[in-house]
Amino acid sequence: MSQRTKNLSGVNKEGLTRIFLIGAGKGGRAVLSRLLRFNWVQIVGVSDIDPKASGILLAQEAALPVFIGDPVQYMQGIDVDLVFDLTGNQQMHTRLINIPTRSFDVVTGQVSFLIWSVIHELEEQEIQLRAHLAEHRVLLEINQMLSRSETSQQIFEAIVMGGIRMTGMPAGSLSIFDKDKQQLFLVAAKGFSSDFFRQAIYSVRAGGLTEHILSRNEPVVIPNISEFPSFNNPILLKEGVRSLIAVPLLSEKGPVGILYNDDFKPRTFTPSMLEALRLLATLAVIAIQKQQAFEEIKSLSIRDPLTGLYNRRYLNEILVSEMDRAFRLRRPLSLLLMDIDHFKSVNDRYGHLVGDQVINGLARLLGVIVRPYDTVARYGGEEFLILMSDTAEAEALAAAERLREATAAERFLPEDTAVTCSFGISTMKGNEETLPTPEGFIHRADKALYEAKRAGRNRVHFFRTDSASSASESEKRR
Ligand code: GH3
Ligand code: MG
Ligand code: MG
Repeated sequence: MSQRTKNLSGVNKEGLTRIFLIGAGKGGRAVLSRLLRFNWVQIVGVSDIDPKASGILLAQEAALPVFIGDPVQYMQGIDVDLVFDLTGNQQMHTRLINIPTRSFDVVTGQVSFLIWSVIHELEEQEIQLRAHLAEHRVLLEINQMLSRSETSQQIFEAIVMGGIRMTGMPAGSLSIFDKDKQQLFLVAAKGFSSDFFRQAIYSVRAGGLTEHILSRNEPVVIPNISEFPSFNNPILLKEGVRSLIAVPLLSEKGPVGILYNDDFKPRTFTPSMLEALRLLATLAVIAIQKQQAFEEIKSLSIRDPLTGLYNRRYLNEILVSEMDRAFRLRRPLSLLLMDIDHFKSVNDRYGHLVGDQVINGLARLLGVIVRPYDTVARYGGEEFLILMSDTAEAEALAAAERLREATAAERFLPEDTAVTCSFGISTMKGNEETLPTPEGFIHRADKALYEAKRAGRNRVHFFRTDSASSASESEKRR
């Protein structure tokens, strides 16, 4: 800094420019806080007539000499190189210039106003810069949070948290758009009561707020809900929401969802906050789409394309862990193998396409009848396998009977032709000495199924260790 000091009128022995500041209001405070950063400056006094002036308080904080009253009188006794006069007072200006023994330069009048304006401008820029930096830091954190997320739910929650962090608003929620149904699904929320989740699905009404948000390419801002009579969402009103920003999440293929940021009091929103939310929306869309693609691929690899049921490969995986679990916990586990009767003749008579429709219809029927925690797989062409955890033989038989009856009652084919199925069941009772192999477990069900076919089809058999297999009670009664 010594280069600079040479250009100034005066410096002390240490190479410091000694400055006296007059007028410590807003302008004085701004100039003082700037000067305090320069290591070539020594503030030798700050003066104002108001002891509570903000610049005086800052000077006191910085342990600088403070003078309340007429500065000219104080300045006589100290060495000063430069006086900053920020009073804007013409009289002060004249008095300073005309001090007979004056050995200092004076920055006053228009010049001091100019300096103050420049400093003010710098200060504003710095504030904005800091805000931008903070927003970018938050964006970076959100991006890290998103890339660490493994499940859709984690991603949804990270997006809501991101909105809250970015805006400083106390609540937020994320809804995902279903294009086929033209509905939004609430998938994550924070800062609301548990009632908020009661209505998790809402339709996009023509002309409604949701449609308005989705049709726009930028955030929709409601600084004060009471000024928007059309805003009548009862759930948000009940939660006490008073202001919000709705950010549409849009991909090139169309709307993905809406991110809401809510506050319980009216508030204003800065353009830079909206800009940051636009960036967040971009990150959110990328993360959601990546996850959706990932889940689609995963589902393709474990599901049968015709029926959407699990495929054989996935079933084999599940079977190993389910058998392990049942054996460890000594719980029963039943396996039900079903095969369509005389399916070849269905194909021969109605064609392969109709055959496919029968397989599909049957898969849908299984989806309705089987309990949600049972695993249903398409095991072969027209063979299905149902794994029933915590299910003993009697319950498995009952389930198979229900399925058998439902299948026979359904009309998948033209001409009122019935389709029937045969069933083979094998059960781990929960008291096994050794854990059977998965192949062995399936083989037993297959054996029972074979017996059911041989006994005339459209019936349920279960595997018995003593004999080859046994007919179910209903069959014995027949
Ligand atoms: P049953 O089981 O009663 O002994 O007689 P079936 O006529 O059903 O005999 P099998 O189980 O041996 O034959 C199954 C037939 O199912 C053979 C095949 O042409 C047909 N099939 C297998 N997969 C598909 C498929 O994806 N679509 C259609 N349309 N037919 C299939
Ligand atoms: Mg078969
Ligand atoms: Mg068959």
